[in-house]
Amino acid sequence: MSTVPFTKEEPDPVTATRVLVLNSGSSSLKYQLLDMARPSPTTLNGAETDSSRLASGIVERIGEAGGVADHSAALKQVADELSSQGLGLDSPELAAVGHRVVHGGTRFTEPTLITDEVVSEIEKLVPLAPLHNPANVTGIKVARELRPDLPQVAVFDTAFHSGMPEAAARYAIDRATADRYGVRRYGFHGTSHAYVSRATAALLGKEPSEVNVIVLHLGNGASASAVRGGVCVDTSMGLTPLEGLVMGTRSGDIDPAVVFHLARVAGLGVDDIDNLLNKRSGLVGLCGDNDMREIGRRIAEDDADAQLAFDVYVHRLRKYVGAYSAVLGRVDAIAFTAGVGENSAAVREAALIGLEPLGIEIDAVRNAVRGSAARLVSTRTSRVAVAVVPTDEELEIAQQAYSLVRP
Ligand code: AMP
Repeated sequence: MSTVPFTKEEPDPVTATRVLVLNSGSSSLKYQLLDMARPSPTTLNGAETDSSRLASGIVERIGEAGGVADHSAALKQVADELSSQGLGLDSPELAAVGHRVVHGGTRFTEPTLITDEVVSEIEKLVPLAPLHNPANVTGIKVARELRPDLPQVAVFDTAFHSGMPEAAARYAIDRATADRYGVRRYGFHGTSHAYVSRATAALLGKEPSEVNVIVLHLGNGASASAVRGGVCVDTSMGLTPLEGLVMGTRSGDIDPAVVFHLARVAGLGVDDIDNLLNKRSGLVGLCGDNDMREIGRRIAEDDADAQLAFDVYVHRLRKYVGAYSAVLGRVDAIAFTAGVGENSAAVREAALIGLEPLGIEIDAVRNAVRGSAARLVSTRTSRVAVAVVPTDEELEIAQQAYSLVRP
């Protein structure tokens, strides 16, 4: 067979530039298909056009009545939805699948090309994340079955925090016990903290290495991080996502002796207390609602429980702003992100008002303006820039996965 030289009429060889991002939970599978060759919000520096996002969706109620049977069926549904849009998983343009994996322990500190060995290592971390890692592993296995030839990359929620100094990562408990059982601060929401700290530097026209940023990721789950020159040096979530800020349904920081007290005095078992602190605490525990919009409405009607929930939430947030200001020494920016951080001007203002002695001056007018792009809400004279920076965990996962497999 003779080789035919390229002619103008022939298509160029296809360059694979698309990444499918999968986030599999126990009963849901979220997906996004991104094209890394097209402009994304980061390359556009906050502009709103985003042609990188080709498709997105969610399959819910996996394994429940009215839903698909299992994750395998869920991924087939995703594949069918993509095919119907001409974006099938068999496309030669697909470069990789990027999987969100919640817990990487101390083993995984970077995006990792998935092999059989990597899958079994992630499975070994299940005791550290019993709710999340099994679902993540299922998603990985199903995707590998569907496209065994395609590179699959695991991006860990803990990875960005793995550079924390021991002084921040260590709990002050018996070292042998801690080491034997992997008890230390790992931190979560790492893809968001990584993305937002970089996007904040870009908003200031600086390199990540030049700025110190406090990132406040305030969603239903919430965490703070102190990022020095692009490296996370402390974060509020710990061994699990329970520690730190007040969240929608989680308590955040409490005296650990609360657990013993409830076991001894109330006769609650470990699972009851786990459920109490993770599912029936935080905003919902204090006022019955975990949606900050509803809490705002109730406060406007002088609801004392909603006001207390808001006050406790904001008090904790201010404590972390102060603590991380001290950890960083010099703070260049404070960035608010996720559902509450991006949308609640009231929380942002209450968290930072009166902190002028720390160089933090929030501008009430700029703060009240709604928007979907990254923006500054501090006064022009504020020493510390206060920013609202929409997070984009899927884009971050896609970029990390693509950087690993790009030809
Ligand atoms: P996330 O986990 O990032 O999706 O954030 C979800 C949370 O964001 C919800 O539980 C609400 O409390 C909050 N949220 C969403 N939209 C708004 C809004 N417009 N104002 C205040 N809070 C909001």
